[in-house]
Amino acid sequence: MTYVTTTIGYPYIGENREWKKALEKFWKQEITEEDFLKQQKEIRLSRIEKQLQLGLDFVSVGDFTNYDRVLDTAVMFGLVPKRFKWQGGKVDLQTYYAMARGNKDAVASEMTKWFNTNYHYIVPEYEGQALQLTENTVLKHFVEVKAAFDITAKPTLIGPYTLIKLTKGYDRLAKASLVLAILPLYAQVIKELVDVGAEWIQLEEPALVTSLDNEEIKLVQEMYAQLSIAVPEAKIMLQTYFESLSAYEQLIQLPVQGIGLDFVHGYTYNMDALRQYGFPKDKVLAAGVINGRDIWRANLAEVNATVKAIEQLSGARELWIQSSCHLQHTAITTKFETKLDSTLRNALAFADEKVVEIVEVAAYLNGQDTSNNSAISASMKAIEALKNHPIRNNKVVQQAVQTIQQADFERNTAFVERLSIQQEALQLPLFPTTTIGSFPQSDEVKQKRNAWRKGNLTNAEYSAFLEKETARWITIQEELDMDVLVHGEFERTDMVEYFGEKLTGFAFTENAWVVSYGSRCVKPPIIYGDVAWEAAMTVKETAYAQSLTKRHVKGMLTGPVTILNWSFVRDDIARKDVTYQIALALRKEIEALEQAGIAIIQVDEPALREGLPLRKEQWDTYLEWAVGAFKLATASVKDETQIHTHMCYCEFNDFIEPISALDADVISIETSRSHGELISSLQHNPYDKGIGLGVYDIHSPRVPSEEEMLTIMQDSLQVLARNQFWVNPDCGLKTRKEPETVAALANMVAAAKTLRQQIEQVI
Ligand code: GLN
Ligand code: ZN
Repeated sequence: MTYVTTTIGYPYIGENREWKKALEKFWKQEITEEDFLKQQKEIRLSRIEKQLQLGLDFVSVGDFTNYDRVLDTAVMFGLVPKRFKWQGGKVDLQTYYAMARGNKDAVASEMTKWFNTNYHYIVPEYEGQALQLTENTVLKHFVEVKAAFDITAKPTLIGPYTLIKLTKGYDRLAKASLVLAILPLYAQVIKELVDVGAEWIQLEEPALVTSLDNEEIKLVQEMYAQLSIAVPEAKIMLQTYFESLSAYEQLIQLPVQGIGLDFVHGYTYNMDALRQYGFPKDKVLAAGVINGRDIWRANLAEVNATVKAIEQLSGARELWIQSSCHLQHTAITTKFETKLDSTLRNALAFADEKVVEIVEVAAYLNGQDTSNNSAISASMKAIEALKNHPIRNNKVVQQAVQTIQQADFERNTAFVERLSIQQEALQLPLFPTTTIGSFPQSDEVKQKRNAWRKGNLTNAEYSAFLEKETARWITIQEELDMDVLVHGEFERTDMVEYFGEKLTGFAFTENAWVVSYGSRCVKPPIIYGDVAWEAAMTVKETAYAQSLTKRHVKGMLTGPVTILNWSFVRDDIARKDVTYQIALALRKEIEALEQAGIAIIQVDEPALREGLPLRKEQWDTYLEWAVGAFKLATASVKDETQIHTHMCYCEFNDFIEPISALDADVISIETSRSHGELISSLQHNPYDKGIGLGVYDIHSPRVPSEEEMLTIMQDSLQVLARNQFWVNPDCGLKTRKEPETVAALANMVAAAKTLRQQIEQVI
């Protein structure tokens, strides 16, 4: 048996985010294109060098990008929308970045989530344009690496089926022409690679782990049949990740030389499939056994056992030991994490440590290195130590989760009855106006926070500043004549981090950055222990704001599922249980707000929908506990207390049922960019609770007119009852500037008043 160590891809942002910095300098024209390309090449090569030093057999090229790998693939084949006025030939960097970020003449291409990760890619657009191979970039990188290190790397590309599946803008007919046009280009890229000495070529097809119907399976079969006829000399590694391979029995027979399977996220199904259908004897199996998208050290004894089992079940003659996916979804190195709890730190593995794990597994299996037994036991000891850490052994929290009762999920009274009780208690006008929570984080707000973090501002000074800012905005909201006010969230930078810092069980790294989209990186919190509520987190700020006004001030919390989905999460207990722990902690916060006299409490769940599993058959299980967690957090309040929720960045049209199941009294959702669609879907699936359809887009500085917003409201009233309808912008306002915010809200309030008058005239 031969074991080859490899990864599907290695992070490109650089240990100190050199990549991000280079991009941003280039955009600001602080460095020339020549300097920029030189820096990119240095980053590219240094990461290859590092992987080789760590002992990896087979490094990938083509796993790097100047912005986004889907965009790279689209550009490589000339999938450039007409509005960018590209004339054919090599696509220059200006055009490339215009597609990603827009320019003065053309809006950027859409961006959307990469499968079930928190990474966002640029959506390719097909307009029937004639396709062409603009530049074989992966070949350039292959040659570059060959020249620098004298190695034969593994070129990797987003595969043709996935590319087509992610491309938008074509109908059924055009799809056939897209397939026809693109396959010869793939063949050409592959052929050119083979001609310069490439052996294996990896085609990444994560779309093959989503639910596939018969027609789709047939298309995949046809595409790969054609490719194998076009380039019979190539060795193709068909790589899947994020879940188990769909239609295993058929797709395993595709005419390729190797198949990569994710034995972390698709463990159960892929193992069952191996057991049931075996594995073709003439193919290489690439086994994703090291989790490529978490931050945890693997239990190497378990990994070794998994590899042995795969080996037996598959009978494959050659196994690749690899990460479960591209390592861009994890951070780069733990070496900078000097401030973390040492037991936690010792149980972490970012990309570099994961590469080492891959190498250690293979060395052990090859029987080369007996000292690897110590690698195995070190991994087990580190995991065991974290398991015994007091933070993972909070008996009170564990007991509380175990003793949750069915009744804990339910409000006392059904929505219809609550509605009239709340109307009586809150005394709000028809079409109440409100905002989503945050107000502009001005330079002053950011400066004060930084000064306070650095110790240059005392706690008292910082609090006094925050209160002053809140008081100022309470006055602004009163002057605008808004109905439900907010305190403005000036104390928060990030809606998850803020709560993570106050709850137990969370840790924050120095440098564990992962790319979210383009050059934007995030540093997710780590949930490593039992989550417990220790003290009120938002009561002081909210109660202070409430003390300044007779109008209602809305309490503002981040929901349990969003906190979960935007963090790195411990893997020793079920995600459901982690979420329930968070929900129970939030439940205490909500009760504390209620006791402090807050009558309306909003629990934001923008990430609820994005946690949906890739396979439809798993949706119900997820939704049951995710919706359950929201209800668990919010159900204990009095009938009079009104629970709001907010969601954004999400397709709602197939999601109205779960939203309704949350049993929130009011939801505000982002719709201003597609409200037409939502209104038509509300027509078919009526919604019975309070709903604020965002009446303007906060992502742009443009101030919408009163008439514009009035029209949206009038349209909405076609499908919503009067007493259901709330008026609000479509998301938080923290990224906006103050003048445009005040101007837009003034128009919004005016539009709501006009609508009230119109309705009264009718009555
Ligand atoms: N309450 C948050 C805010 O206004 C909600 C942010 C969000 O939906 N992403 O900023
Ligand atoms: Zn939002």
